[in-house]
Amino acid sequence: MKTLKEIHGQEKAIVFLKRAIASYKIAPAYLFTGIQGIGKTTTAMAFALLINCMDPVDGDGCKICTSCKKIIGGNHPDIIIIEPDKDKKGIGINQIREINRHLAFSPALERYRIIIIDPAEKMTDEAANAFLKTLEEPPPHNIFILNVRDPGELLLTIVSRCQKVPFKPLPTEDIVNLLINEEDMDKEKAKIVARLSEGSLGRAIKISKDDLFTDRVSWITMLNSVINRPYDILIDMAHELTGFGKRSATDKELKDDRIALMLGIWKSWYRDILIFKLEGKLDLILNSDLNNHLKKASAFYTVDALIRSLTVIARAEYDLMNNKNLLFLLERSLLGLKRAVKGSYV
Ligand SMILES: [Zn+2]
Repeated sequence: MKTLKEIHGQEKAIVFLKRAIASYKIAPAYLFTGIQGIGKTTTAMAFALLINCMDPVDGDGCKICTSCKKIIGGNHPDIIIIEPDKDKKGIGINQIREINRHLAFSPALERYRIIIIDPAEKMTDEAANAFLKTLEEPPPHNIFILNVRDPGELLLTIVSRCQKVPFKPLPTEDIVNLLINEEDMDKEKAKIVARLSEGSLGRAIKISKDDLFTDRVSWITMLNSVINRPYDILIDMAHELTGFGKRSATDKELKDDRIALMLGIWKSWYRDILIFKLEGKLDLILNSDLNNHLKKASAFYTVDALIRSLTVIARAEYDLMNNKNLLFLLERSLLGLKRAVKGSYV
C-alpha cells in the first residue's frame, strides 16, 4: 500500500487533501474524478491511512501503528470499500443499505470511517437515489470518497454535495520513467506503451504485460484485414473475440477489459495512419515499431474513411462502457469498419 508521498503525478490533489486534514476542514464527501488507472483508489487508501494514523510521519501514515497495520492488512473495521457486485452489473441498493447499517454506529476505532465507492458511476439508479439520502445527513466522523471517471455520469444532486478533487492523466515522459525504473522495461518498449496508455499508469501496466503487448500486433493485423474480409467472416471474427474465458463470474469483467484495450489499440492505429497521411511524418506515431505496416496500410484509406472508422470505434467504446452486449457490439463495429472504408456507416 502506498502513502501519499509515494503516489506519482497527482501532487495538486494530494496537497489539497493534506491541507484539509491539517486545517481540520475535512469534507463529509469527496469526489475523485478522472480516468481509470491514475491513482484515485490508491490516493483514497493513502488518505484513509493518514487520517486514521496514530502517529503520522512527515504528513503521511506511519505504516506501523495498529490502525495503519489493520488498513494494510485489509482488516480495519472502519474502512469500507463498495465495488460492483461481481455477478451483477453495478452497485446495487443492498450495498447502500449495508453502508447505512454501518452509519448507525460510531466508527469502531473511534477515529474516521472511510467509505470508498469505486466506481460511483456503477451505482444503479435505485442505489444512487438511496445514497443521496445517506449523503444528505451524514453522521460525523464518516467520510465518503466517490471515485468517478466523469462527474456527468452521476446525479447532479450527489455531485453538488461532494468536494471535487480532480486527478489528471500523467505526462507520457513520467510514465516512460516509471515503466523503466519500477517495471524494469526497456526504453523502446516503455516509449510505445506510455504513448498508448493515454496518461494512465494502470493502463500502461496492463498493456505492458507481455501477452497484451504481443496481442497488440495481432489485433492490428486483424484490423488491417477487415477491409478485405467478406461479411460472414467478420461475424465469425466477432464470435472468436468474445469466445474466450467462460469459467467464472469475473470473466465478463476481464473480457470487457481486454476488448477495451483492443479498441484503444485500434483507435491508436487509425490515429497513426491519419497523422501519417496528414503530416507525412513518422515522429508522432504511437505504434512506432510498426512503421512499415503503417505506410502500407495508409494506401488503403482516405482521410474521410479514417475519420468514419474512428467514429465507429468511439461508438463501440461508449457501448462497452454502458454494458451493451459484447458480441453485438463487436459485430456492429467490424461491419462498420468495413463499410467506413467504402463511405458509409452501419
Ligand atoms: Zn500509523
